[in-house]
Amino acid sequence: MNCNPIPEREDWFITDRKPTICPRCKTKEVRKAVLGKPLEEDFFRDDIFVIGCIPDFPINRTWGCRQCDAAFFKDTPRNKAALGGLVPHQWPKD
Ligand SMILES: [Zn+2]
Repeated sequence: MNCNPIPEREDWFITDRKPTICPRCKTKEVRKAVLGKPLEEDFFRDDIFVIGCIPDFPINRTWGCRQCDAAFFKDTPRNKAALGGLVPHQWPKD
């Protein structure tokens, strides 16, 4: 697995797949990030990371650590470009 820190933010990482163990706090609390207002039942789920109503910058994280709030972005050209500030914040719908 490649998991590279982003220089500008010590709690952001570019990674090619979901880390099992968070490189920042060393817990196994990395979960798939879910954007938006969670359903009431989602608050009690431990298999997702709820981003909530305030989006991440500059793009939404792919995975998040429930322990330390570290953000993990999948290693795609689009994500790397967005994180490098080379593309607009908002993407058109696929
Ligand atoms: Zn963590």
